[in-house]
Amino acid sequence: MSARDDDSSDPTPSSGKRAAATPGSFKDLGLTPLAVALELSAEQTNGHWCSRCQGIWFGYTLEAECPVCGNRNG
Ligand SMILES: [Zn+2]
Repeated sequence: MSARDDDSSDPTPSSGKRAAATPGSFKDLGLTPLAVALELSAEQTNGHWCSRCQGIWFGYTLEAECPVCGNRNG
């Protein structure tokens, strides 16, 4: 997955809004400072869900803290 889909437009019809688990409905919270410092490519990062931001951030596999809000509880 070299190219992440940052398209914010939701392809699903607005008639039936589904639960947050729908693929493509999450926010891209970006990379962690560590991932940037290590110059990790998209393939070298793992996506982590943040329930507080309702989005996914990308960082080193062992990282657990959301770079946006600091949430560590997923
Ligand atoms: Zn967060």
